[in-house]
Amino acid sequence: MRAKSKDEAKLNPFAKALLLGVLFFLPFLISNILTADYFERKNAVSLEEEVEFFEKALNAEELTQLYGKNIDSDKVKVLPKNKVVILGYHQIREIESIDGPKTRLFITSPKIFEKEMKLLKDKGYTSISLVEYINHLKNEKENPIPEKSVVITFDDGYVTQYTEAFPILKKYGMRATLFLYMDCIDKYPACLSSLQIKEMLDSGITVANHTLRHTFLPEQRESIIKKEILDNQNLLEKTFGKENVEKVLAYPYGGQNEKIKFLVQNLGYSGAVGITRGTGKDAYNIFNLDRYLMGDKIELFEELFKD
Ligand SMILES: [Zn+2]
Repeated sequence: MRAKSKDEAKLNPFAKALLLGVLFFLPFLISNILTADYFERKNAVSLEEEVEFFEKALNAEELTQLYGKNIDSDKVKVLPKNKVVILGYHQIREIESIDGPKTRLFITSPKIFEKEMKLLKDKGYTSISLVEYINHLKNEKENPIPEKSVVITFDDGYVTQYTEAFPILKKYGMRATLFLYMDCIDKYPACLSSLQIKEMLDSGITVANHTLRHTFLPEQRESIIKKEILDNQNLLEKTFGKENVEKVLAYPYGGQNEKIKFLVQNLGYSGAVGITRGTGKDAYNIFNLDRYLMGDKIELFEELFKD
């Protein structure tokens, strides 16, 4: 019995040291868990995830507009003729049988995409950048734009934006803005590489901010929201050159609120876009401009650009 208690006594200093060690590193561990670093993406944003948070970001009316029979063109609210349509694309690839009806809102087949770009060209539209349009909204006289203007945007940096969309954009002489979250670029097979993006920059493509980790901002603290936006901006400018980065933001999943819009304005951004379908309550608010989510239905597109 005596020998045993001696052994226990020998173990105690070791256990104490272990305990001290854990206690020493505990604040470090907790702070790591609490900061954004913990939320590093394990993969590129999936379309299922896109749909899940997108539904959180929209109100009931906006959802009905999206998923009801309003997906057909009949009830789509078309912007007044003097306003510019902002198009929002995600993946440009063939629709597969496993793609659900909701995720199809984020997929446009190359054939439909080409039809749309051809239609814009045939009708004499000029693609302008989002910043050009925002400057025009701020002061129409000082910043004129072509009578038939359109803004083309792509979100998330999917590789098919290079393999499928880019050749078509070039063919029809259309410019576009890519909203990128840098935690995707060069990391996952589904994402663009910085080399591909640099090649696109030489042909009239610009890039812009979509937060660092594609974070649903309304659920985050202000410090994290700021970090998500500023860290991404720094990486974009460092990788692609300040002159190629438009100072605009696309809210991941379209998620925003009054506080976030105010913050983005205070961070010096020209403006921001969400993803609605012509239903946004503050469609002409420069910090939540209405953007048409383009899926694979050409009817919406035809409705938007009919004479
Ligand atoms: Zn996105």
